[in-house]
Amino acid sequence: MRYVSTRGSAPVLGFEEAMLAGLARDGGLYVPETWPTMSAAEIAALAGLTYEETAFRVMRPFVGDAFSDDEFRGIIARAYGRFDHAARVPLVQTGPNDWLLELFHGPTLAFKDVAMQLIGGMFETSLARTGKRITIVGATSGDTGSAAIEAFRGKEGVEVFILFPDGRVSDVQRRQMTTPVEANVHALAIAGDFDDAQARLKDLFNDHAFRDGVGLAGVNSINWARVLAQVVYYFTAAVALGAPHRPVSFTVPTGNFGDIFAGHVARRMGLPIGRLVIATNQNDILHRTLETGEHRRGSVEPSISPSMDIQVSSNFERLLFELYDREGPAVAELMGELGKGGFALSQGALGRLRAEFDSARASEAETTAAIAEAYRATGMLVCPHTAVGLHAAKVRRGDPAVPMVVLATAHPAKFPDAVEAATGRRPDLPERLAEALSGPERVEKVANDVAALQALIARGAGVEAVR
Ligand SMILES: *Cc1c(COP(=O)(O)O)cnc(C)c1O
Repeated sequence: MRYVSTRGSAPVLGFEEAMLAGLARDGGLYVPETWPTMSAAEIAALAGLTYEETAFRVMRPFVGDAFSDDEFRGIIARAYGRFDHAARVPLVQTGPNDWLLELFHGPTLAFKDVAMQLIGGMFETSLARTGKRITIVGATSGDTGSAAIEAFRGKEGVEVFILFPDGRVSDVQRRQMTTPVEANVHALAIAGDFDDAQARLKDLFNDHAFRDGVGLAGVNSINWARVLAQVVYYFTAAVALGAPHRPVSFTVPTGNFGDIFAGHVARRMGLPIGRLVIATNQNDILHRTLETGEHRRGSVEPSISPSMDIQVSSNFERLLFELYDREGPAVAELMGELGKGGFALSQGALGRLRAEFDSARASEAETTAAIAEAYRATGMLVCPHTAVGLHAAKVRRGDPAVPMVVLATAHPAKFPDAVEAATGRRPDLPERLAEALSGPERVEKVANDVAALQALIARGAGVEAVR
């Protein structure tokens, strides 16, 4: 399988190189040259398999010869062996034909672990083979950072730097990043919001001398391997609920558009997905895009679902590439316009977008009400991101005969204040979080400035005079 850039002018790479690169050298994102498909019979044959076996069968065509079958099965087994539920991502019924897909049973209690644990193993296998050293730099709105740190802490040949917006992640999220003791872990609090952190990250990647000097590698959801890992649970959930013999709908709490783009990929592969609902909080650029046809940035308003406080959804570029018939130069032009504020989709592109996706936005009050409603109806506590999804799923429910699955993206204990405010009950603290909540914090503050970041990273990575 070969990978091409959404902007059409970076080298075509194999899976392993695309994974290690993260961002393409023309500033675009890597996508498969063609979409592999699974027949109805192949999908039906997934019924009753373990999560690990389904993961192997769904991802295999994308990985090509980067890993042998045995290597790949081993990586998958180690990744999901650290989840605390035998189903890995269990489905829980919340209504007559309504379900939550619990994606938070990994080590940091958010869905980011599903992908990050896998790519941790992929990177490790690949680096062990080549003896290369790399510097991972990631930007986080809260959960990616801890998941990346958990996946790479103490690993040979890897330094990990995580940029998070100072003061804009929850206490639990911050402590998960600042308390690990391993020397290869560096938590950096940047003066700005998540979009600033993500923009500086792109600056680092687009400075090719720096990039090559420190051996920069990206694990944000711009990394194709992460999106790929998330395709798997659309298959396990849909097959458990009757696919391929009937369609299944999904609602996805959305920030950077990685998780829901994985749903789009599953559909391209042949999985019969009914509705695919984009759920946003008050930072609703994607919902506005569907409503108005204009993709225009606003300013980020901090919310009680902070992992979705984003106005520039990086993975939307991957969808634009599809909507514009895989015309790299057209995508490059649109992204240039987005840098200056935004753009209007062409009629054709908007028609396709609306044909494939639904969307809804949850205000802060609606999010709180959805947490309270879930508690009243089921006795379950849900995190505020999941609640945004529950609200959107209700607004865009569609045919009641089609199962609706809302992705439950984090454990409620990661956001205890919002949950308690809505229900009067404070979620119990899982043992896995207790470690993060004790112990001293280690963090460096950094200006919203690429030169300052480069100096800090070069020093931390032990690389002299990169420029
Ligand atoms: C990252 C995250 C999201 C958003 O996922 P994207 O792939 O960025 O759209 C939603 N909820 C939680 C808890 C997250 O950590």
